[in-house]
Amino acid sequence: MTKPTTTNTGIPVSSDDESLTAGTQGPILLHDHYLIEKLAQFNRERVPERIVHAKGSGAFGELVITNDVSAYTKAKLFQPGKRTESLVRFSTVAGEQGSPDTWRDPRGFAVKFYTEEGNYDIVGNNTPVFFIKDPIKFPDFIRSQKRLPGSGLRDHNMQWDFWTLRPETAHQVTWLMGDRGIPKTYRHMDGFGSHTYQWVNAAGERFWVKYHFKTDQGVEFLTQAEADELAGKDADFHRRDLYDSIERGEFPSWTLKVQIMPVAEAEGYRFNPFDLTKVWSQKDYPLIEVGKWTLNRNPRNFHVEIEQAAFEPSNLVPGVGFSPDKMLLGRVFAYADAHRYRIGTNYAQLPPNRAKAAEVNSYSKEGPMRYDFNDPEVPVYAPNSFGGAHADPEKAGDEGLWNYDGQSVRAGYIQHREDGDFTQAGTLVREVLDDGERDRLVGNVVGHILGGVQEPVLSRVFEYWKNVDTELGKRIEEGVRSSLNG
Ligand code: NDP
Repeated sequence: MTKPTTTNTGIPVSSDDESLTAGTQGPILLHDHYLIEKLAQFNRERVPERIVHAKGSGAFGELVITNDVSAYTKAKLFQPGKRTESLVRFSTVAGEQGSPDTWRDPRGFAVKFYTEEGNYDIVGNNTPVFFIKDPIKFPDFIRSQKRLPGSGLRDHNMQWDFWTLRPETAHQVTWLMGDRGIPKTYRHMDGFGSHTYQWVNAAGERFWVKYHFKTDQGVEFLTQAEADELAGKDADFHRRDLYDSIERGEFPSWTLKVQIMPVAEAEGYRFNPFDLTKVWSQKDYPLIEVGKWTLNRNPRNFHVEIEQAAFEPSNLVPGVGFSPDKMLLGRVFAYADAHRYRIGTNYAQLPPNRAKAAEVNSYSKEGPMRYDFNDPEVPVYAPNSFGGAHADPEKAGDEGLWNYDGQSVRAGYIQHREDGDFTQAGTLVREVLDDGERDRLVGNVVGHILGGVQEPVLSRVFEYWKNVDTELGKRIEEGVRSSLNG
């Protein structure tokens, strides 16, 4: 038998079809509280969309540890044989909720592990680097990639203006304009923790670490033309592919690997290892396998489980810590703050964000939409004499300590001997890309520039690319000028 429709508080309602009116042609009556509840609820169905990474897709899965990395970290989720439930949210960055999945953009790759020591989040991207290296630039950067205030249009001139005025963007922009700037699907891209983090082993020894999720499906990409066509045909192409493949039982997987740098080597390394615009060469620090990460379950409710999912780099577990990467340190504040604004101060109680394998003994209480609470006998303050939770430094380890130089300054990163805004971008162009990839890179950049870049930005764009690679820059300039003159 069909169940009766009720109000939100379980009272049976008399109609799904007709509002209560004064006579058949009379006004709708204000005391039709079910109608009012229905319309009011509808008006409030959305939470504010994320300022960045608004369009996303997600799934649940599992991490299984296949190697022994206990020499580097004591974190329980990384110990041999351990299985940990996980949630991921893939996303584009600049587009809004309904924007096409196949626009050229980095992809967010935010992973949550429900560990027995609390939730651990690796909030990364599908690129190992980022556009900028200091969080004070982040709002300016994002505004330059979004929309003009007057027309509401996206604007390539504004994008290149920012990129060329901030040449530290060159490595990420080279990556973005290359093949890997538009993955074929979310299944066919690698993920990176991008930042440098710290691992601490049971003996208290410290290591710097970078995470790499290498796709087991192989890296595949879309050409600009393929992506443009798909953007018109199916804006949800990547969301659909992920959902359908999991429904079919084709579970995508990634091999989790790390690069490990002993703390003592950081100072003398040829690149500053905390600068988010740089990678650590895999020739210097080869990838070490950690485990297999598989996605095997679709959300049952997109809004509750994916839209309300909150990932934050501040969710660390014992055995993992921060590093002097300034972007990381800025994000530690910004993500939790964004969640408090977007989905409320009690966001950690929402189903995708709750600890699942760990017990929560927090002194947080009350606030809007609070529905979880401690036993009334549990004191609401610490310390206390009545058996309430108390901090245990043994269990917590530390949050990743390192030596500071002790003076407050506003200064850039210490330059290591091979640092430079264009060094690694040039290596990517000359030593990693093949001829076909270089040709497509030139084509993608020329096409993008022709989408509205004007002087004085235009000349700076040619300089920028010549600094990445002289030959490449000349080809880009020739391509643009011949199209403009033709
Ligand atoms: P390696 O030759 O050891 O590694 C090259 C890396 O480049 C591999 O991870 C490879 O990924 C990746 N790659 C291959 N094709 C492309 C492409 N079209 N776009 C972007 N990346 C690609 O060299 P190094 O580690 O010394 O790094 C050299 C350059 O490679 C760096 O300057 C950086 O631009 C780029 N790179 C470096 C990474 C790192 O963590 N060291 C990671 C990714 C890129 P795959 O194995 O999946 O083919």
